[in-house]
Amino acid sequence: MTEEIFDPLIISEQQFDKASLYINHLQSGLVDFLKQPKHVHVIHFPVEMDDCSVRTFRSYRVIHNRVFGPGKGGIRYHPDVTEEEVISLAKLMTWKCALVNIPFGGAKGGICCNTKELSNSELRRITRRFTSDLLDVIGPHTDIPAPDMYTNEQTMAWIYDTYDVLNPGKNNRPVVTGKPLDLGGSFGRTEATGRGCLYVTERFLSKGLIPEINEIAGARVAIQGFGNVGSVAAEEFSKHGAKIVALSDSSGCIYSESGLNLDEAIQFKQEHGCLVGMPDTLTLTNEALMEVDCDVLIPAAVSNQIHTGNAHNIKAKLIVEAANNPTTPGADIILKQRGIYLIPDIIANAGGVTVSYYEWVQNHANEQWDLDVVNDKLKKKMHYCIDTVFKRWQVFVVGDEKCVDKVSGETLECPDFRTVALVTAIERVANATLMRGIWP
Ligand code: NAD
Repeated sequence: MTEEIFDPLIISEQQFDKASLYINHLQSGLVDFLKQPKHVHVIHFPVEMDDCSVRTFRSYRVIHNRVFGPGKGGIRYHPDVTEEEVISLAKLMTWKCALVNIPFGGAKGGICCNTKELSNSELRRITRRFTSDLLDVIGPHTDIPAPDMYTNEQTMAWIYDTYDVLNPGKNNRPVVTGKPLDLGGSFGRTEATGRGCLYVTERFLSKGLIPEINEIAGARVAIQGFGNVGSVAAEEFSKHGAKIVALSDSSGCIYSESGLNLDEAIQFKQEHGCLVGMPDTLTLTNEALMEVDCDVLIPAAVSNQIHTGNAHNIKAKLIVEAANNPTTPGADIILKQRGIYLIPDIIANAGGVTVSYYEWVQNHANEQWDLDVVNDKLKKKMHYCIDTVFKRWQVFVVGDEKCVDKVSGETLECPDFRTVALVTAIERVANATLMRGIWP
């Protein structure tokens, strides 16, 4: 048996190639343009640490595509950040923004560092230095960062402040989203990704594809990751009547067949810095979480968590990809064969970039919308995404849209939801590129 590939660039290439089989008239020269990043910035910078030593950090900012507007994408601080990962995540942002239909292109950034080993003032100096090195790259109309793993509204406040100090006299608030409320952040941005997961799941379940569960209430839910996205998703699903049977963070997983008490889990995490050890819960590994008996499985942490090694054992009926790239292409095939549905990342976690767009609009207009206004718009947008992809998928199911392999001439099987979502997004970017006219 050949070993499974976990390289993020190869995976994104495989996903693109699979989707492009279903797109007619995609010019081969254009394919190269759509696959390649526009700019890759690799930056090394020195920072003075608290003990007066100096450390050099490696960092990236990648802009994949700007056909629809400025680059948009988060910045993650993680020791495992690589150029390949950042490029693949920037691509994902292009397809996500196109699918959601917001006027942004795709970008992503990252710094190789372990936030758990850094003080607040070291993090501030790292962020300021990174931002100053990106001064010609980021900007309210060129490339707009946001939070991702191990970055938060404080990180965004430092980015905004650094950019504003070095570009005085302008309204620079739209240079970054996910800011604190008092610095032009939007109500509902912090919760937007987790809340978006709820909206897409409720809409998907209402389509009746999974007869045993057609609503959130009563569904048994397992969530990997208890950071910004995972903890909000847990709260939102719980508020809507779901039973949260498993939760995890990097320390491991807690499980209770009768359902976890979320308030207690939040308090335990605050007091102890981890979930494992919470009274009246079973301790499992993060690997075991993937295979627990549940209706909805929400990976909300790192990539490649569902792979050919565990896809056969997954018991959930629906997977909602809150994290980016949690499922490998090999696992996609197994899940489809087993009749397990999956809402892909470019829909499931698109709530974050959607409300980032609303924040950007509010910043340009010097306004701050009420939470109800933001949530209402977000819900409509998430439902629109599910409806769009579901409608296109149905056309494939009934056979109105037949696809034929361009090389073998054989009829292709009905695509899964990831492929249909990508087909929709890639077509939009390809059409917009041609509509604008290839320069010069
Ligand atoms: P976060 O830093 O707030 O939380 C990450 C969580 O993952 C933490 O609970 C951490 O303990 C856990 N974790 C880390 N390594 C793990 C491992 N090996 N196994 C299990 N758990 C592990 O990050 P976040 O903002 O919640 O992002 C989570 C995922 O959602 C990422 O894939 C990110 O790209 C994606 N995402 C985030 C946003 C956003 O708005 N924050 C938007 C779209 C997508």
